[in-house]
Amino acid sequence: MTTPSPFPDSMRCVVLIGIDFDGPSHEVGRGIAPLGKESCGRYSARCGIPRHLEMLARHGVPATFFVPGYDAQQHPQVVQEIDRCGHEVAAHGYLHEAWNLESAEEEQLLKKTDAILRELINKPVLGWRSPSGRKSDATLGVLKSMGYIYDSSEKDFDRPYVARFGKGPDDTIIELPNNAYSLDDFPFYKFSYTPPSEVLVQWRAEFDSIYRSDRFFVLSVHPRSGWGSGTPSHTKVMSDIITYMKGHDGVQFFDSRTFAKWCIANSSKLEELSYV
Ligand SMILES: [Zn+2]
Repeated sequence: MTTPSPFPDSMRCVVLIGIDFDGPSHEVGRGIAPLGKESCGRYSARCGIPRHLEMLARHGVPATFFVPGYDAQQHPQVVQEIDRCGHEVAAHGYLHEAWNLESAEEEQLLKKTDAILRELINKPVLGWRSPSGRKSDATLGVLKSMGYIYDSSEKDFDRPYVARFGKGPDDTIIELPNNAYSLDDFPFYKFSYTPPSEVLVQWRAEFDSIYRSDRFFVLSVHPRSGWGSGTPSHTKVMSDIITYMKGHDGVQFFDSRTFAKWCIANSSKLEELSYV
């Protein structure tokens, strides 16, 4: 981008690691019994998330775990362990709703998941990522009314921005856009069957470009087996890209809520982009 970066020189590149829990809700929400070849979501809770927590602790970097409410009900101790390890727990739908919802139902599900997560971790939930990219005109207004400070769902910009979703003075929220194509494990492992070693090459190339340009690197992964990053060789790709990024000057890792608070404090430096 040609506009000046909003980041100070000390913040050479911001890195946000988003880990979408995507447990059995992913199948149950679609009416599929999470058994046999459809059980990859339970792997997330049983193996993938513990493996990611261990890997993140080894590196000493924070992450944000986006958790569907149903998965939190099925695996409450896993969500509490994420919080206990100091990582952020944020919302990711109830049954990972990837289909359109009526406004009243959407609001009810957003509040239901929020209540489940808040009760488990005993602290407010401040952010949301849409499951499978689903969102409506009403979503951001409901999130803002619930006290959320950011959304991380849009694919429409290279940097964080102030998203205006209404005409009122408070109708804004911080948007932390994520690139769900090249900076996501899903397309590589689900569609192109890219080997882990090649995924690392791709992510390193993305980082090299971003480090020189927009300085905002948002990586989204899923700790499932199958198309996710939960298995040992796939989690090693995560570890290797973190090692690579840590080798560059001025790389700062944040969880999304901490970085969203930085964005709010520095909102005059961010672009305001409107949906209305
Ligand atoms: Zn998801």
